[in-house]
Amino acid sequence: MEDLVIAEPKRPTIPVVGGGEFPVRRVYCIGRNYADHAIEMGHDPDKEPPFFFQKNPENIDTSGEFPYPPKTQDVHYEMEMVVALKSGGRDIAIEDALDHVFGYGLGLDMTRRDLQGEMKKMGRPWEIGKAFERSAPVGPIHPASETGHLDSGRLTLQVNGETRQDGDLNQMIWKVPEMINYLSQYYDIAAGDIIMSGTPAGVGAIQKGDVMKGSVEGLGDFTVAVI
Ligand code: MN
Repeated sequence: MEDLVIAEPKRPTIPVVGGGEFPVRRVYCIGRNYADHAIEMGHDPDKEPPFFFQKNPENIDTSGEFPYPPKTQDVHYEMEMVVALKSGGRDIAIEDALDHVFGYGLGLDMTRRDLQGEMKKMGRPWEIGKAFERSAPVGPIHPASETGHLDSGRLTLQVNGETRQDGDLNQMIWKVPEMINYLSQYYDIAAGDIIMSGTPAGVGAIQKGDVMKGSVEGLGDFTVAVI
């Protein structure tokens, strides 16, 4: 790489349970994938096709700390299961989709809700509310070869020991194979892509000093301190 005119930016990686690091290429996030969360955000879950946005790979953070971000008064947690892909392609059939999954993990889709709301009102892109520094705290990736594929199981988020989100993966409107199928119709899906699979009801604000603890049945839990 002697032709690079600046130092090569470091590719973000996520530790893998059992050893090694998963390099992140893209971060896709689905919106409103649990009916009760769609309703709490003021939408009708039955009438809407799926939609996705992206965070930047560099927004991934595995430190266990979330610095309260600037230019906001209303930062929300969204506890989600993370799907990590080991391969990809175009127009991936639903029945083949899980062959591309390397593993699963825990993630938080941290959101500057006030900025997201302003952008929505103006019909502008959401990046400023979603794709900011360290906005995707994640835990380690569990290989699917160890856990099997997860289509049900309790997902929870506690803040300071109090349960705020309590859903089940089986409540997803768009299942993991359907998300991979859908994304692969619009993008070239590839190894290193991760999908944040949506959040159940109960999203809310956090403050400096809070401690968030997320869990998914079969994937253990992870803790993120707001600093
Ligand atoms: Mn989300």
